[in-house]
Amino acid sequence: MDLWVTNCILISGDGSSVFKNGLLGVQDGVIQVVADQQPDQLPDGPLLDAGGGYLLPGIVNTHTHGCCTGPLFSSGAPGVSLDDAVAHVLRHMAQGETTLCDLSGLGTVADVEQVRAAVPVGIGLGSCHFNETFVAARLVDGTGIEPRHEQVTARQMIEQGDVVAIGEIGSGATLGGGVASYRYIPEAVRQISGVTIGWAEADRIKAAVLLESPTQIDELSKLLEEFDLAGRISHEQISELVIKYVRKPLGAALSGFQPAAELSAATGVPAVFHTCKESVEKILQVAERYSSGQVRMIAGHANHNSMSAEDCVSWARKLRNRGVAIDVATVQCFSGMPDILVNARALCAAGLVDVISTDYGGGRWDSILSMVEYLVEDCLLSMPKAVALATSAPAALFPSIGKYRGLLAPGRHADFVITAPGKLSEVHKVFIAGKKAWSNS
Ligand SMILES: [Zn+2]
Repeated sequence: MDLWVTNCILISGDGSSVFKNGLLGVQDGVIQVVADQQPDQLPDGPLLDAGGGYLLPGIVNTHTHGCCTGPLFSSGAPGVSLDDAVAHVLRHMAQGETTLCDLSGLGTVADVEQVRAAVPVGIGLGSCHFNETFVAARLVDGTGIEPRHEQVTARQMIEQGDVVAIGEIGSGATLGGGVASYRYIPEAVRQISGVTIGWAEADRIKAAVLLESPTQIDELSKLLEEFDLAGRISHEQISELVIKYVRKPLGAALSGFQPAAELSAATGVPAVFHTCKESVEKILQVAERYSSGQVRMIAGHANHNSMSAEDCVSWARKLRNRGVAIDVATVQCFSGMPDILVNARALCAAGLVDVISTDYGGGRWDSILSMVEYLVEDCLLSMPKAVALATSAPAALFPSIGKYRGLLAPGRHADFVITAPGKLSEVHKVFIAGKKAWSNS
């Protein structure tokens, strides 16, 4: 063997197997041995003492953004720089991820090649190259779209083997969600008023404009006063920009759901849909029409904070009955967005979670392993089951990138994570294809 890992609690990722005196043997980047170490089992190669920590499969993250330089989000915003894309991937890796999917969806292979060359993490791309997406993107932004991005279709991207998924279909940028709140509305407010507002402030302004209550003028006046915007931006201006970034692109964005589901059904490639209050009914509609026996549609971040915990559970149940897999995203659930955690908890308690991802959260996502740890500590799931939601389950949903990943078993890629003793979320080492890719020391 090239490497033996000992002195660990090995969680294989299959949802049930735990080896309390774990032993992992690796040769040529492939796992050869997964066992409980016996006293007579004397490893015959380099030995790595895991210090009594957990040994897990590398995390497979099926939904993030900003890990390639192509247009960002379904709004076709300018992509992040190569340095930022690499930094994002390295941050994912330090959180235990060895495989991830960038689902901004308008980039091409040319936008990810340099990132792939710079990092050992497996990076898959999603595609949402549909006419409907480009129309919705230009209603909001579109400044990051180059002619070459429009010269391919999602079907061609699939046929060329360039993508691992269809999606993200819609996003918070064109469905009036998080991206409108942390990016477009604050940017527009700053241009008009010179005042910087954040995600939470934009969310409250959005709610006040969209609710159209009889006391809307008073509510808006109060908010403008509170955010130091009074006299710097008018009621009309702020209402107009909320309508521009939230309501206007909605129809165009939703019109992309049907062709995406149709293409997924025709090709067998999984499709990830942006789930929120505005889109969830549409996902159910297309699932009723296109979902077959095999799960290929995924409701991305079904714990979205535009919905109450009860609504999340009720929709997830209906979607699952139609064969849609339920994804919960961490986003910033431990750093300022507790509703997202409350919703994830409710979905988990109802037994409705199939997979955990990070999404993007403006580049400040919390780690998947912190969510896994939370679900275990809250006694909602056993540790093997919770780990499976971040490893074998996403690998199975995205077969083209997950085929030999997500499980510690002979014949699989030797992608694995060693954590601190008793602390799943504290990653100490990350190995990819049997080689050390990251270490905390
Ligand atoms: Zn997303």
